[in-house]
Amino acid sequence: MAKIIDNHCHFEQLTKREQKQAIANYQVVGVASDYQSSLQLLALKKEYNDLSICLGIHPERINNYTDFLMVAELIETHCHQLVGIGEIGLPYFSLLKMSRAEQVRFSQQGLILFEKFVKLAAKLDQALNLHCVGDDTWQAISYLERYRIKNVLFHWFAGSHELIAAIYEKGWFISVSPEVITNIKYQNQVKMIPKEILCLESDGPWLYQGQRGIPEMMIATAQKIALLFNCSLSEILQTSQRNAHQIWRIK
Ligand SMILES: [Zn+2]
Repeated sequence: MAKIIDNHCHFEQLTKREQKQAIANYQVVGVASDYQSSLQLLALKKEYNDLSICLGIHPERINNYTDFLMVAELIETHCHQLVGIGEIGLPYFSLLKMSRAEQVRFSQQGLILFEKFVKLAAKLDQALNLHCVGDDTWQAISYLERYRIKNVLFHWFAGSHELIAAIYEKGWFISVSPEVITNIKYQNQVKMIPKEILCLESDGPWLYQGQRGIPEMMIATAQKIALLFNCSLSEILQTSQRNAHQIWRIK
């Protein structure tokens, strides 16, 4: 079988050793968080030809929103080297600590930034690697519909049945992080996702119970998903591969 695709990994944040092991054994889709990491991923793409990359600004990185013009220019100039735009989306966790007035201000700024990226994705025919949580996702979906974006991955998604149904109907996809291995609440969330739109991701090097998220953790993740869906490991792996090929057009 071909290398398993990690649909969402902050590759530039892995150690050199982790990067080498990841590339040797997996097909990695690296996502950027800001201008600096976008530059780093472009440099790493030169080093590792097999690395797939998405450039963008992480929606929770509110202080980096001003990077937009620089990141957009990188995306335009290097669009043939990219498989998508990401990690982009809407802020959620960073708003929790804010006053009501700040929340309103930053969610508006988040939406404005999101629309700019979605517009760019439509213009350049790029896929999206998205960070959206909960009911704000309805707003994200309205932009994706307005700009007719076809290839979309909602990474580590958590939200209602209705949202999952909307994502499913549009032909978009949801990736599951290794958090599913131990987190019962997240396991229940994952069980709500139609099996055929599932994908795997590490979101590396995010820490899972103190363990660094590396692409290898997708195996235990897939095993857990197979248990939850009462199906075989190979079915989960094959579904994720098929979906990833469709989203990122990886050959
Ligand atoms: Zn991420």
